[in-house]
Order: sequence, then C-alpha cells, then structure tokens
Amino acid sequence: MSVNKKMIITPESSEISYADEFDVVVCGYGGAGGCAALEAGRNGAKVLILERASDGGGSTALSSCEMYLGGSGGTSLQKACGFEDSTQNMIDYIELAFEDKGDPEKIKFYAENSCEHFEWIRSLGVNYKEAAHLGRIVVPESNESLLYTGNERAYPFSASSKPVPRGHVPSHEGDFGGKIFFDALKKEVASSGATVSCDSRVLGLVVDANNSICGVSYKKDNIIQHVKAKKGVILTAGGFVMNDEMVSEYLPIQSKFAAPYGNPWDKGDGIQIGMLMNANVINMDEAFFGVYFYPPESLTYGIFVNSSGDRFVNEDSYGARIGYFCSQQDKQKAYLLIQNEDFSPSLYIDKLPVIAVAETFEELEKEAGFEPNTLSATAKKYNDYANAGFDKAFRKDPQWLKEICNPPYALIDYSFDAQRSPLYSQETGPLMFTLGGLETLKTGEVLDKNGEIIPKLFAAGRTTAGLPRTGKGYSSGMSVGDATFFGRMAGMSASTR
Ligand SMILES: Cc1cc2nc3c(=O)[nH]c(=O)nc-3n(C[C@H](O)[C@H](O)[C@H](O)COP(=O)(O)OP(=O)(O)OC[C@H]3O[C@@H](n4cnc5c(N)ncnc54)[C@H](O)[C@@H]3O)c2cc1C
Repeated sequence: MSVNKKMIITPESSEISYADEFDVVVCGYGGAGGCAALEAGRNGAKVLILERASDGGGSTALSSCEMYLGGSGGTSLQKACGFEDSTQNMIDYIELAFEDKGDPEKIKFYAENSCEHFEWIRSLGVNYKEAAHLGRIVVPESNESLLYTGNERAYPFSASSKPVPRGHVPSHEGDFGGKIFFDALKKEVASSGATVSCDSRVLGLVVDANNSICGVSYKKDNIIQHVKAKKGVILTAGGFVMNDEMVSEYLPIQSKFAAPYGNPWDKGDGIQIGMLMNANVINMDEAFFGVYFYPPESLTYGIFVNSSGDRFVNEDSYGARIGYFCSQQDKQKAYLLIQNEDFSPSLYIDKLPVIAVAETFEELEKEAGFEPNTLSATAKKYNDYANAGFDKAFRKDPQWLKEICNPPYALIDYSFDAQRSPLYSQETGPLMFTLGGLETLKTGEVLDKNGEIIPKLFAAGRTTAGLPRTGKGYSSGMSVGDATFFGRMAGMSASTR
C-alpha cells in the first residue's frame, strides 16, 4: 500500500526548530489517546496531545461506550448483579471467538486485568447502574448497565464457556455512553496537566541519522511544526474506515456492501505513520459489521434463509456474527421467516421490506420467488427440530426453538442491498469499522516487519490490531474496552522509558 503523500518523515537537522519538548507525545485524542495521556501524566511525564479535530473524543465519544469486561471472579458490576466470571472463562470465550486470529497474550492480559480496568474507569467518575438487562438488545434502551453484548449464550460458545454478561455501559437514559465517558476522561486529562493541541494534524515523525525517533511533525494553522518527544510517541489516531483507498485495498469485498462507521478522521494516519517506520501491519482484511435484526427479541424465533432457501446460522447469535454469516451468502441475500405471533414492529425492522406474506410455507416460497420445495422444506425440517427440542443443524438454543405454525407467515428482507433500518446506511448496507492495524505488544510497543520493537514508538486502539480480531467473533464493547485498556498500557510504557 502506498503511503499518503501528506505523511512525512522529517530528518532532524539544524534547520528544524522544535516548538517545544515533551516526554510523551500522543497523536489522536480519542479513547485510546486520552487514556494513554492520563496514565503517562500520572506517571510524571510531561505530555502533549495532538488532535486533528477541533476537540477530542473521536469515535469513542460517538459510541455507546459499551466495554467488554469481566474475569477475576467478576467486575464489581457483575458481582452486584449476581454474576461470577472467572478469568479462564473469559479467556476461553475470547479465544474461541477469534479462532486462529486472536492474540493469546493480549487476550490473557486483558482478561486478567479488565476488572481492575473497570474500577479505573469508575474512578474517573463514570457511573454504572447496578442492574442487568438480560434480553436480546443492541444498545441499552433503559438504564441498566450490564448486558449480554456477544455470543455467550449461543452455540458454540455456550458449550465451551459459561455464559456471563460482560457488556458494561455507563448509566444513562438513551445512547450517550461515549459522551459521558469522554467528558469524565477529559476532565481528568486536563487536571493531569497534559497540554492539548486541537486542530493539529499529525503528519509524521522526526528522526535522526540512525532513523531513531526524536519528535513529531504536525500541521496547525496551515504551518508544519515540530515537537521533541524525549521518551516516546503514541499513535492513537483511530482506524482507516474513512480512507477509501485503504478500504478498497484491504477490504475489497466488504467495501462492496458495507458503509463506514466512525468519525471523519478515521483516515488511517496512525497506521500510515507507523508504516513509514517499517512497522508491521496485520489483520487488515478484518472488519466489524452487524446485522442487528432484534429487538424485538421474539424475532429470534424466526429462521434466516439465503436465496436457496437454506438456513446458514443459529439465529440466537449476536448481530456481528449474523452479519458475518449473511456476508458469506450468495450476493449477501438473507431473509427472515417469521410467524405472526413473533412479529412486532420496532425501530430495527420498520423500514425493512416484507417481501411476502402467506398462509402456508409453499405459498410464501412461491410469492417470494424461491424454487419449489426449498424454503418450505427448510421450514418443515426446522419445525421437526423445534418439536424435538434440538436444532440438529445449527444448535440454536432450545430457549429460542419454537414451531413456526401460526400463519400468516412473513419473509423480511435482510439482504445487504435491501436494508433500510436506522442501523444501516441508507445507501449501502451494514455499517463497518476496521479491526486491522499496527502490530503491537501488550505494552503498546510497535513491532517492525522483523518482529523487533521500534524504539520509542507505541500505539493503541483502532490504529492497532488489538483485542478484537474478527467481525465473526466480535462482541460489542471489545473495541472501546481494548482502546482504553491498551491505551493505558501504552501511556505507562512510554512514560517509564
Ligand atoms: C456510533 C458508534 C458507536 C459505537 N459503539 C461502540 C460501543 O458501544 N462499544 C465498542 O466497543 N465500540 C463501539 N464503537 C467502535 C468504537 O467507538 C471505536 O472503534 C473506538 O472508540 C476507537 O477508539 P480509538 O481511541 O482507537 O479511536 P478514536 O476514539 O476514534 O480516536 C482517534 C482520534 O484520533 C484523531 N486523529 C485521527 N487522525 C489524526 C491525526 N493525523 N492527527 C491527530 N489526530 C488524529 C481523531 O480525530 C480522533 O479524535 C462504536 C463506533 C461508532 C461509530
């Protein structure tokens, strides 16, 4: 991939004059950057944060701020809601979720420390209501702070680890968790003494004759300026979903059907600056995109079929996993067959096309244009499984197995080219953010293409390939959880050098 021509490496020379000098320079003031700056500042470092936008926040402030946390017997919120969660249980779940793409060291470290991370977040002044919502929802509609935000209760996960809710979301009515969290973080960053420079686009690094990092170059007021970084530079500039060139190079298939989900400066600048230093980039072909077909959770009683009328997923899976399996179907065509008693209008389905309504499966299949004996045969087989209480095909949990036998039946079109729910782009389909980036250690140190640590270079959040590695195994909360946790690690590491 060719690096954007705006990105630069500036050789240190007598012609360079540094505007100022700091111990640690943080590039990007979102969740990862804010947490990195705070830990570095608390560690006694003189910190500068450079932020391209006119204020900090990034995608973190836009998000619901669900964080995926647990292990160590349970976070204080899990315990207060009556749940116990062992570290090994959390490791088993995340390892299965990301299969061979997960980073075992990061997974273990995160699971071992995420309870402590939750207390750290709370200590910023972020409040959580000690109540759990155990239904199938996407973002909290009421004020409970503990949710299931993944596939914990669905096969194969339910068979290999004990289901525990790990989605922690700040207490609030509505979907404003990111703002609540970021406002609290910003207050602490300000009192830590860090200098924040907004409207400052980081362009690259200043290096000496040995290619060692000396400082950071950025553009402010249309002038390129340089600052010295004595201990380290931390790249926390988010992902690359808003960079069309990078998306079409690394995610050519997904870019055909998914639309960007993030802030306007998710341009991959942090990744590209790392690449100029020969950093290794990994997992670039992975992204999150979801098909959230619920609430109402009663839709889970329905069955998903593709254009051949075949099922392809256990419908009690989480939206990101459903999205992945929908993406694997021919032309990304997917339909939900539902009976009348399980259908009710909601924000999530109101704008989706209902392509057929009928009194029998055969009529439904004909009206929707399926071949005879495809959809109807699948529905009858499913009913056999439901009556036997065991879904032989996909192991949908018995809780959601119910005979589909009360007409009228409807077929809702979830094909990517048909989706019109508010959770999808009006034009293109499910919303996506990227899961690839710089390869880092759990300390936030960036590795080069030979697996060596690049001295003084650190990174966290969506600029890196962090904890979440696939859309198929993604649970909500893994991105903000990862960005804030490993942001802290990077801040601690950079300031102790
Ligand atoms: C609407 C929405 C809801 C979401 N909900 C959740 C959720 O509930 N839970 C979850 O886990 N994930 C969620 N996500 C995903 C999650 O918010 C992001 O993946 C995560 O916050 C990224 O954190 P970050 O610190 O890496 O990047 P960001 O928070 O985006 O911060 C990056 C910062 O870097 C700045 N920047 C970029 N380039 C430069 C440059 N060259 N120089 C200086 N600054 C630069 C940006 O302006 C930005 O402020 C959601 C995403 C969206 C869009």
